[in-house]
Amino acid sequence: NITLNIFCNHLHNGFKTRKVYDMKIGIIGAGAAGLAALRHSRDAHHDCEIFEKTGLIGGTWNYTDRTGKDEFGLPIHTAMYKGLRTNIPKEIMQFEDFAFQTPEDSYVKQSDVLKYINDFATHFNLLPHIKFFKNITKICPLEKGRWSVEVRDLKLKSLEIKEFDAIFVCVGNYSVPSMPTFPGIENFQGTAIHSCCFRNADNFKNRKVLIVGSGPSGRDIATLIQEVSENVILCHRSPLNPKDMIPTNIKKKPEIQKFKEHSVVFKDGSEEIIDDVIFCTGYLYSYPFLSNDCEIKIENRWVKYLYKQVININHPTMAFIGVPFGIFPFVIFGVQIRFFLAYLAGKLLKSKEKMMEDLLIYMNKRKELGIPDTKAHFLGVTQGEYMDDLAETANIKKVPDVFIKIYKYVHGEGKGNRNLSFKIINNNEFKIVNQNAELL
Ligand code: FAD
Repeated sequence: NITLNIFCNHLHNGFKTRKVYDMKIGIIGAGAAGLAALRHSRDAHHDCEIFEKTGLIGGTWNYTDRTGKDEFGLPIHTAMYKGLRTNIPKEIMQFEDFAFQTPEDSYVKQSDVLKYINDFATHFNLLPHIKFFKNITKICPLEKGRWSVEVRDLKLKSLEIKEFDAIFVCVGNYSVPSMPTFPGIENFQGTAIHSCCFRNADNFKNRKVLIVGSGPSGRDIATLIQEVSENVILCHRSPLNPKDMIPTNIKKKPEIQKFKEHSVVFKDGSEEIIDDVIFCTGYLYSYPFLSNDCEIKIENRWVKYLYKQVININHPTMAFIGVPFGIFPFVIFGVQIRFFLAYLAGKLLKSKEKMMEDLLIYMNKRKELGIPDTKAHFLGVTQGEYMDDLAETANIKKVPDVFIKIYKYVHGEGKGNRNLSFKIINNNEFKIVNQNAELL
């Protein structure tokens, strides 16, 4: 069979290259993570298919006016809104060996990121391997580490079962909203939405808007709306960092006590009339297509049990890409993917028991540092160590230190200043290239 395979591939490639496909890999989702998984898996000579339920690549980075359900009755995946600029510089939003060239600015628009992702797919000739409008509805483990995948063709309304040797789960973490309940919300007569349905600040022109949550989305959406409305309130649980430079005309309020028909009462007893509320309360991990036999469960925002936040310990031929948060995702995707491919290639010999033991040691260390299980996947400034650990464990290429250096800078000294532009000098150094940057 292998001889025939080599012969056929020789014919196909005009005798130029030899290709022997090692494994048949199924990739779920054609966002940035899925595309990177395809690129690296093909480099490793695997035979790959990506299944994407929409008609587009780029996942989250696609903008649509539509909210709620799509034309097939599935929830809209993307939470992208008009006016979004990246919250980290493009220099640390790069796929490996594929530089983000334009524009000059570092904090770029949604359309720039989407173009970059599309250029990446074209450059590495990924599009022929993507199956669009294919919704994965069930994945079950088979014997010998293989997988059965139920693929629904949304256009033809047909169902197909495919088998793979390994699976990459690349479905993103920002499409299933986390909606805490608040006393009295059922009486509130205004509009209440989650940030996943926020599309355009102009819809809130001159309205009295309450933003709940001061994470990146809450701060960004409040800042966009205050440009068209003088009545924006940001209510927050954790203290605000002055370096986030939240515009002064946004009223800051503590947590909510209760909603009334046309107003909200805060825990300090103050009350404000509001027309609309936008809950920027985050998202939930969700893998509805995994059968119970996959043995993945989510408890308190902890996806259990993943080795190094990537490999399904109970069924190690399944990987999850992009589970950590507080990260620069595109760079981490690359190292996570190469880590899993090294495991598949037999370069990382770890028993399930050893993987579980390592995970429990890691979680206990975090507990000692006071980090709750709900933040099991939070990395922040520790992501440099995380990526180095993946590289050392699997003996794969390390990610250059310059990325973590830029990340630390933009979350420290340069926090909140999206006017800065960065240039990577080499694997260790970067510089700020704006003229008079110190004046910004
Ligand atoms: P996604 O982009 O979500 O792609 C997942 C894909 O999987 C989608 O195309 C989806 O349709 C598909 N899919 C899901 N389920 C199925 C299924 N069952 N069958 C088939 N296909 C399926 N990151 C940054 O680096 N910088 C930023 O500035 C930044 N800003 C952000 C702003 C917002 C509002 C949001 C929501 C996220 C932001 N992010 C940012 C994070 C962003 O999610 C990542 O950059 C990156 O896009 C994640 O890629 P992904 O491939 O993991 O997921």
